[in-house]
Amino acid sequence: MSFESLGLSAELLRAVSEQGYSEPTPVQEKAIPAILEGFDLMARAQTGTGKTAGFTLPLLQKLNESPQKPGHRRPVRALILTPTRELAAQVEESVVTYGKHLPLKSTVIFGGVKINPQIMKLRMGVDILVATPGRLLDHVGQKTLDLSKVEFLILDEADRMLDMGFIHDIKKIIALMPKQRQTLLFSATFSAEIKTLANGLLRTPKLIEIARHNTPSEQVAQVVHPVDRERKRALLSWMIGSNNWKQVLVFTRTKHAANRLSKQLTQDGINAAAIHGNKSQGARTRALAEFKQGKLRVLVATDIAARGLDIDQLPHVVNFELPNVPEDYVHRIGRTGRAGNEGEAVSLVCVDEHQHLRSIERLIKKTLPQIVIPGYEVDPTIRAEIIPNGRNTPKKGGASKHTNYRWDNNRPGANSNRNDTRSSNRRQQYR
Ligand code: AMP
Repeated sequence: MSFESLGLSAELLRAVSEQGYSEPTPVQEKAIPAILEGFDLMARAQTGTGKTAGFTLPLLQKLNESPQKPGHRRPVRALILTPTRELAAQVEESVVTYGKHLPLKSTVIFGGVKINPQIMKLRMGVDILVATPGRLLDHVGQKTLDLSKVEFLILDEADRMLDMGFIHDIKKIIALMPKQRQTLLFSATFSAEIKTLANGLLRTPKLIEIARHNTPSEQVAQVVHPVDRERKRALLSWMIGSNNWKQVLVFTRTKHAANRLSKQLTQDGINAAAIHGNKSQGARTRALAEFKQGKLRVLVATDIAARGLDIDQLPHVVNFELPNVPEDYVHRIGRTGRAGNEGEAVSLVCVDEHQHLRSIERLIKKTLPQIVIPGYEVDPTIRAEIIPNGRNTPKKGGASKHTNYRWDNNRPGANSNRNDTRSSNRRQQYR
């Protein structure tokens, strides 16, 4: 199928071909005609599927085709909500890229930066606003933003917005908009919570399901290297150096671990920086830009900071620590092998993380190959330690700090109350 056959205008086709896209991805094939026809959408698509262009292209077309309602000076006509600042910035970049031959205006607003420049931009009038929920409500509170003329609402990565506790903010925002509008909901999962949100929000939506739930891209080679906790950092430095890796995204569970690892790698002579929620927006944007330009060899990130990052052709993703939530493994390795490029996802797994590994393997329905790196063999006398907020966290009044999990032992099964603990784990982890 070609982009031409989807019914997009010449200006948009030009922008698409300037990006070098030869044909639409599956989500684009399905979403673009449905949105152009005016349907609400409930789409299950992860990052890396081309979903951003999937909603941005038809949105731009519809806005350009239908004239503004008279009597208003450029009211906000389309609102795109995203869970994180980085994703908001990236989505707005896409709006600019695909809309460059159209006379539409867009801007992005998120927290962590000064509000006044955002107020100025809003005052000058924008057609498309990309925003994170918190800062959006700040603007509403200050009466610097009017949502009463919104015709299109897009919730991007809606599952992550709910995980991050934005449901009340989202409800407040929706109450400020006209009921008569087209609403598009994109989510990596269709959980019960997402379905409830969708029921209250969408009118006879078209349902689109792309990559099977929690299936990593075929293009990503995945491998586990068993290694002792204290030797992970030496192994990582060695792997980067000996393989001459130039651009590596490394994940840790916590902000503290991300900071510590980026310092240690720098000490090892490897140019690294950390991005996470405690870093200023300027520092995060700078680190990401340098990483994209190839000036920074390693970017160490927590799950939340990395969510939705669009880094072209990223060859290496390293799980320095496995995530507490198995679904995050799939999100993490989605950073590599994107849009047709091959990638490699390496997990350094120590004795503490057996249960995490099992949960991940159960989720992706695949046993990951384990390769021991010579010189980094596991010491079988080292005992597992509890991972804070992890699945092996003892219940109240429970076990001691040490457990007896070993590589050669039968590993314990997953926590049976995982759904109850999941969102509270997340909240603690990301605050
Ligand atoms: P997304 O899932 O929106 O984050 O997009 C993932 C990546 O795919 C981005 O780098 C896009 O630039 C790229 N992309 C989007 N649509 C296409 C396409 N039709 N052909 C090739 N690459 C694409």
